[in-house]
Amino acid sequence: MGTTGTVLITGTTSGVGLNATRALVNQGWTVITANRSPQRAAAAADALDLPKQRLTHVLMDLGDLDSVRNAVAELPASLDALLCNAAVYKPKLKQPERSPQGYEISMATNHLGHFLLIQLLMDRIKVSSHPSRRVVILGTVTANSKELGGKIPIPAPADLGDLSGFEAGFQDPISMASGKGFKPGKAYKDSKLCNMITTQELHRRLHTETGISFTSLYPGCVADTPLFRNTPKAFQTIFPWFQKNITGGYVSQALAGERVAQVVADPDFAESGVHWSWGNRQTKDGLQFSQELSEKATDPETAQRVWDLSLRLVGL
Ligand code: NAP
Repeated sequence: MGTTGTVLITGTTSGVGLNATRALVNQGWTVITANRSPQRAAAAADALDLPKQRLTHVLMDLGDLDSVRNAVAELPASLDALLCNAAVYKPKLKQPERSPQGYEISMATNHLGHFLLIQLLMDRIKVSSHPSRRVVILGTVTANSKELGGKIPIPAPADLGDLSGFEAGFQDPISMASGKGFKPGKAYKDSKLCNMITTQELHRRLHTETGISFTSLYPGCVADTPLFRNTPKAFQTIFPWFQKNITGGYVSQALAGERVAQVVADPDFAESGVHWSWGNRQTKDGLQFSQELSEKATDPETAQRVWDLSLRLVGL
């Protein structure tokens, strides 16, 4: 086990973030949770009997850039690790839902809110004296076309196209990074692709200078978290069954939380620039490996444009 410290985790009311919080406080870490309802975050932690003295709950709506800024103003001057976990997935939307700044909600929450948070917290992570400072971002298989799960054409694979939607300001009527027509399931995949691009670009730009480790991961298919609450009811029954019995890709929320905690805290996961995976069909004791990412996630020119355009969209 590595040295303990203080980690900020986004999205801890349920699922992977809640279970990663549990694993980390049980290892002795102090966790600052960032949620749009700190009350619900506290209730979820209480339901698992997590020690209150190791937890602070702050209000942060990742979909609202002003809320991210306000929350950061209240955070401590030094942080040892940041875990970008919160996400929304809204595949049934007929029309794009908009953030307070006018951006499509899954890109706003999953990518832009976290992008701003990372930029605003970088100096506080830099000054930490922790021996292994880390920024960890949840990626996903469905946004990595190097893997089978990333090739699924329903509704379309992740693809930022020529980034003309970002370039044009990403406001109504634009809802996709590519500037093409709205596809809500693809909007989620595109936002997760941006998460993985961001990790790679953070590594390229800042790892040598700061010594901070930047990694992303796919913890496995945690098919029964509330992430899928906006899918059809039949899907919510069939999908976990399918992942458990057919693909073997299913992992429990508890195991996913332990995997995420390892990437945050375990010395074996200190290397920067890695996208960690345990594979779709690994057994419970299967070991982690460095999963190759698609060119869409690793191409430095795309990443530089995503970085510059994201800076502009978050107002930096
Ligand atoms: P989840 O249970 O729905 O957790 C998502 C968390 O994000 C919740 O705490 C939710 O809080 C929070 N959140 C949503 N919108 C927010 C906002 N605007 N501001 C702050 N927090 C917000 O889903 P999960 O499956 O654990 O997903 C966690 C991460 O794992 C995501 O990044 C997801 O992409 C990734 N992932 C999941 C899977 C999987 O199979 N489940 C696979 C690969 C990657 P509320 O209660 O307020 O909604």
